[in-house]
Amino acid sequence: MTPTGLILRDASVRLRAAGVEDAMRDARRLLAHLLGIAAERLVVDMPAGLSAAQEAEFAALVARRAAREPLSHITGSRLFYGRAFQVSADVLDPRPETETLIEQALQAPFRDVLDLGLGSGCVLLTLLAERGEATGVGADLSPAALQVAAGNAADLGVAARASFVLSDWFDAIEGAFDLIVSNPPYISEAEMAELSPEVLHEPRMALTPGGDGLSPYRVIAAGAGRHLRNGGRLLVEIGWQQGPAVQQIFRDAGLAQVQVHSDLGGKDRVVSA
Ligand code: GLN
Repeated sequence: MTPTGLILRDASVRLRAAGVEDAMRDARRLLAHLLGIAAERLVVDMPAGLSAAQEAEFAALVARRAAREPLSHITGSRLFYGRAFQVSADVLDPRPETETLIEQALQAPFRDVLDLGLGSGCVLLTLLAERGEATGVGADLSPAALQVAAGNAADLGVAARASFVLSDWFDAIEGAFDLIVSNPPYISEAEMAELSPEVLHEPRMALTPGGDGLSPYRVIAAGAGRHLRNGGRLLVEIGWQQGPAVQQIFRDAGLAQVQVHSDLGGKDRVVSA
């Protein structure tokens, strides 16, 4: 048996050498995942040593992370707005910035909500979990993503209030909603070249629409009039430099009360209308 502390230290050295930012944190999370305990329990529940079999299994997890596979793909889940979501290489990893979209959505009442570009379902399903009376429709062009989202809906106990539609934006959507939300792919072609190795493990279609990154906002703005109830709200996540451009697109489409909201880091992150 090798002492666990030593194994963790070696793992963090290996991860740091591979360019992983928070190497010790990730080493601890991988170990917690291996042991089947929450990372916060590691302090109290850490075994004195690992068996040879456990050590080999841990080394395999560390090797995957050293190859810059996202931690969430290795553990299979990621926390978003305080809840665990299953993730895979078929969906965008839920990100803390996107919690800004949730905070904005929860500022006003809604009975039904449409999420365009559902991915893992983190936005729609969080809203349904927070608003026990609301129902929701999630649209995505990826059948694999819809499956991940359906699994998350079941895990969160909101499946009875959620439906999932294979749709290219509004194409297969019927009816009108109180609230439409979207965290569309918005990274420009040029910015795709600057992403970290982890991000390249995520689906390209969830990250970028190509070109200037703004095309989804044009499509959403064009269809919102038909699918929003009178007095309904549209909320989209944006890249931090896209505020002025998206505001213009929304105003040109005739949407009213267009506003930009910033995230906790003070960057433009959400546009509402
Ligand atoms: N709605 C999902 C999220 O916010 C997926 C977004 C996407 O794939 N662009 O994480």
